[in-house]
Amino acid sequence: MEEKIPRRTFLKNGAMALGVVAVCDLSGIAGATTALRLARDPQRQVIVITRAPDPHESNSRYAQGGVIGRGLDDDADLLVKDILAAGAGASSPQAARILAEEGPALLQEILVETAHIQFDSLPDGEPEYGKEAAHSRRRILHVGDGTGQAIMAGLVEAMQRCPNITILTNTTAVDLITFPHHSRDPLATYRPVVCHGAYAFDRKQRTVHRFVAAATVLATGGLGRIYRNTTNPPGARGDGLAMAHRAGARIVNAEYVQFHPTALAAPGAEGFLISEAVRGEGGVLLTPDGRAFMSDYAPEWKDLAPRDIVARAIHSEMETHGYSYVLLDIASHMPADALQARFPNIYARCLEAGIDITREPIPVVPAAHYFCGGVLVDEWGCSNIQNLYAVGEISCTGLHGANRLASTSLLEGLVWGDRAARHIEAALRSAPRAVLPGREEIPAWDESGLVADADSALIQGDMQTIQNIMWHYVGLARNAERLSRAIRELRHLWNEIETFYRTTRLSDGLIGLRNAVEVSMIIAQAALHNRQSRGCHYREDSASSVEGERLI
Ligand SMILES: Cc1cc2nc3c(=O)[nH]c(=O)nc-3n(C[C@H](O)[C@H](O)[C@H](O)COP(=O)(O)OP(=O)(O)OC[C@H]3O[C@@H](n4cnc5c(N)ncnc54)[C@H](O)[C@@H]3O)c2cc1C
Repeated sequence: MEEKIPRRTFLKNGAMALGVVAVCDLSGIAGATTALRLARDPQRQVIVITRAPDPHESNSRYAQGGVIGRGLDDDADLLVKDILAAGAGASSPQAARILAEEGPALLQEILVETAHIQFDSLPDGEPEYGKEAAHSRRRILHVGDGTGQAIMAGLVEAMQRCPNITILTNTTAVDLITFPHHSRDPLATYRPVVCHGAYAFDRKQRTVHRFVAAATVLATGGLGRIYRNTTNPPGARGDGLAMAHRAGARIVNAEYVQFHPTALAAPGAEGFLISEAVRGEGGVLLTPDGRAFMSDYAPEWKDLAPRDIVARAIHSEMETHGYSYVLLDIASHMPADALQARFPNIYARCLEAGIDITREPIPVVPAAHYFCGGVLVDEWGCSNIQNLYAVGEISCTGLHGANRLASTSLLEGLVWGDRAARHIEAALRSAPRAVLPGREEIPAWDESGLVADADSALIQGDMQTIQNIMWHYVGLARNAERLSRAIRELRHLWNEIETFYRTTRLSDGLIGLRNAVEVSMIIAQAALHNRQSRGCHYREDSASSVEGERLI
């Protein structure tokens, strides 16, 4: 593979108009969709880079609820209406329309026909549509409560069947290659910023490769890991967002981080999602000493209040009383056998963590769940940098506005993954002789003189500091004082980490730490700047708020 990479990613004469670096997503739904569409042309070489050793590892893999289909009494207009209502006035009607109109056909084409995913169906063969909060219709397709796992298994297999898709695992993208920044030509300064690929770190060989391509697609997912409590897996630390930011891409809506009210709080199983359906089936939130508290915050809705209200109520109880978790009691409200049948994965995962949910309450905390902002892209996934695309959770198409409607993100990955590929195909067709810069024009990664390995205690310590700052000061309830404090502390940390980064040999952890502090700053600054509460951005020091229909 080592020998193959430079040959595939650099044509010596600089005429590689067909190569595409999909940074970085074998595993996620968005990058996989782009790769599969582009690979239909056997002449085209598609390189997919992912940092994880396991190609399935991604946020997509952990999706529980499912993906939006078109229900029986459903249509595109109804879905658009639901998306716009959830987005609290900040969702793009155009993006919602694209998703609603193109989604169902793509789901059939990519997930069912290409990736061979079998969604749950009724005995008569009709799809079994699920209902989720803030959806006006039953329209969620699922595979038990492990939809993401099934989707990723199918997509990975489909990509492995394509001879012109090269999947590089254990490879962490470090930075985008952009001109004029990386150009040796002083005149490049006067031309538009253009992306020519990415530098990526081979974690096994500990070297950095230059990947040069006609188009680069960022599909690196979310950033939940910059928070102390999150439902996201370790790879979700905002790498792509930080890379895009350093390259000069426009980042928008960064203050809109969605928190889920109930993630498991048990040693070894932190962040495992406890579905809202548990409260739907009668589960009640209690303080650790057994007091039901939701009626104090939402007398009408109680435990079935909208997601942001429940998350903030839990947060407030924890902060006021110093609890490290609250409890979710379903055992007293549902017979044991029904509970096991309805929530088999939750039952099994909690049991592994030593909690028998048929007999005792579940310790839960709110957790960072989804990033609604991102790299601003148009309806084709194009960023403001030439040849740079962003798809999936890292991007901001405008669809989610200030608050994501449940189960829209997998579908957004499919729709914009496909659209970006179509745009790339058209661009390659219109400029078949496009000349890429040659090897000599792009500086090799230079680590000469760096001998010290990154101290893992520093990486871990700094990461935990970032996670604590973000959790306490840029979390569910924000105010100017907390946010200003966060920015001061993050700025200091940023300086330290940047020095650390420049004087230490590269590692995946160091790359992630540098990116984590950068995206944390972006979010904190956006949150300070926006004084109006809207959707999942809640400013307790502001009289001005936009309620919207906060029901996801
Ligand atoms: C627990 C959970 C449940 C969810 N349930 C649902 C649901 O039911 N329905 C729904 O629609 N959405 C759900 N979501 C949200 C949804 O899963 C994600 O928004 C979506 O999967 C994101 O897809 P993606 O392709 O953009 O990114 P991802 O699937 O996260 O893929 C990104 C990939 O990029 C890799 N990567 C990151 N940085 C680098 C780097 N520097 N170099 C190389 N590779 C890198 C990552 O390792 C990963 O493989 C859920 C999310 C979570 C966490």
